[in-house]
Amino acid sequence: MGVGLDIQGDVAEAVAQAATPNALCRFAIRTYGCQMNVHDTEKLTNLLLHEGYSPVADEEQADLLVINTCSIREKAENQLYSDLGKLREWKARQPGRILGVGGCVAQQEGQTVLRRFKHLDFLFGTHNLRVVPAMLRAAAQGERLSRTEETRSLKRFDFPERHPAYTGLQPSRAYLTVMEGCDMFCSYCIVPKTRGREISRPAESILAEARHLAEQGIEELILLGQTVNAYGRHDVKRGRTESVGTMSFAALLGRLAEIPGINQLRYTSPHPLFFDDELIEAHRDIEALCPHVHLPLQSGSDSILESMKRRYSVRDYLEIVTNLRRVRPDINISTDVIVGFPGEQEDDFEATLAVMREAAFVDSFSFKYSERPDTTALDLSGAVAPSVMQERLERLQDVQRELTLRAHGSRIGDETLVRLEGESRKGQGQWRGRDPYHRVVNLDVPANNEIYAPGTRVAVEIVDATPHSLIGELKDRLNTGYLAGNLAQELLTIV
Ligand code: SF4
Repeated sequence: MGVGLDIQGDVAEAVAQAATPNALCRFAIRTYGCQMNVHDTEKLTNLLLHEGYSPVADEEQADLLVINTCSIREKAENQLYSDLGKLREWKARQPGRILGVGGCVAQQEGQTVLRRFKHLDFLFGTHNLRVVPAMLRAAAQGERLSRTEETRSLKRFDFPERHPAYTGLQPSRAYLTVMEGCDMFCSYCIVPKTRGREISRPAESILAEARHLAEQGIEELILLGQTVNAYGRHDVKRGRTESVGTMSFAALLGRLAEIPGINQLRYTSPHPLFFDDELIEAHRDIEALCPHVHLPLQSGSDSILESMKRRYSVRDYLEIVTNLRRVRPDINISTDVIVGFPGEQEDDFEATLAVMREAAFVDSFSFKYSERPDTTALDLSGAVAPSVMQERLERLQDVQRELTLRAHGSRIGDETLVRLEGESRKGQGQWRGRDPYHRVVNLDVPANNEIYAPGTRVAVEIVDATPHSLIGELKDRLNTGYLAGNLAQELLTIV
């Protein structure tokens, strides 16, 4: 058994190549956190398929289990330790099983986790996905390895093409990484530490992947990056986009929209500071760009925004909202809000509620402030009592429910296109899908009709609304052959 030490790339590769191919074949991945983590799980799945592993839904059937972790809040980090404790038995039940940990907690804590949990076989950071197959081969030989070194190499964006058995997130919709990391250092955020500094992928590599995805039937791309609209900004500023092969984010959206077969584009998450006029105009000019933006606010109080080091004011934020609605009046805007940030007084919190109402967010993800290691917010005074945080969170969520219901209610009577995803939570033949505004639409779909499949877009009329979703009716209710073909094209010009 080897020791759990970080080893340098070349050594790890050599160890792995010397090892005989693993005898394991079934794997499962538990994923926590954001879309970037979900996409990392997809990339890892693809890598493992190329290695000859096959995915299983039931972890009890798996020979290899990987936990892809999140450390954005303390609760998410603790989840890993709880999972690892429980998985001691999973490992013991079948000799030869391999257990690995990746993602943000792995990047943050490194070997500490490997030392603390002796039944853990390997650990890899957010820049080290590509070496997982090599680490696995070494783990099969009894090595306990950890790889968490950061890299500026663009190779980290290179992954093999989709394996024939790889199905991806959903038929017809795919994530696409355009940049990674963050240079903003907001005072509460651990991401610059777990995901590293900002790096933009060359446009040609993004476009090549997008073209390839389109050839495989992908119609909707969700562009990913920690501050996705910061894409290429350093190069634009220094006038070196040509030499390094990047461009502005808005220009990239335009190029992606030209790819035959791509009919919907989304991106997450933009930073208000980089929401420039070019991007606003892109929402007017690029038909494929969906009328929905998730724009993190975090607080509606200027003094709290300053303590957070967000580098914009409430006025700046609301100006973006106004400009977006000027060019795209029907646009839906959702947001992230933190309550109970150190120093947040009642009037700061009420200012946040006021901004929520003014911006009329269709949805929001709201969280209680959570202390993270090595962040500058740890030095701030004015901690908010947990009971006050809880009370504010509930008040904020009440306001959001009201706003969501109002936004949903205004959609009744709309005709739209819905990309089907699968059965709704209710089941019993009811399906769910998403419309271009990223709202969940539940609808009844004729049973046993293979033309209604996940990924298909269907023409729908919105007939009712709840705080959680819209209720739709197929426009072709009486004629099951009437699909989102020509009608879809017609409606696209309406929505
Ligand atoms: S912009 Fe701020 S909140 Fe977002 S990832 Fe970067 S540091 Fe974290």
